[in-house]
Amino acid sequence: MSGLNLQERSCPICKDGFIEDELLVLFRCNAYNEVRQVFVRALLERGFHTDTSNVPSQIDTVKVVCESAPKQLAKYVMYCIEKRMDALYK
Ligand SMILES: [Zn+2]
Repeated sequence: MSGLNLQERSCPICKDGFIEDELLVLFRCNAYNEVRQVFVRALLERGFHTDTSNVPSQIDTVKVVCESAPKQLAKYVMYCIEKRMDALYK
């Protein structure tokens, strides 16, 4: 398999120097703060409680959200993809 080495995959959207992976996009990348806030608000409106302190990892958080709010999660991922495409290719 070819491609960039892991350390060369820093996020091209925020340029904060973090390695860009799925979890960075979903939880940490500053470029998605706005869409993330919309997503969190949608979860709160559904009564989803965002205290994930008892959830062991980010992957488990994704699983929990996926089970309880799959449409909202799908929408959020779609917004992130659109934002990334706009930032990289527009
Ligand atoms: Zn980023």
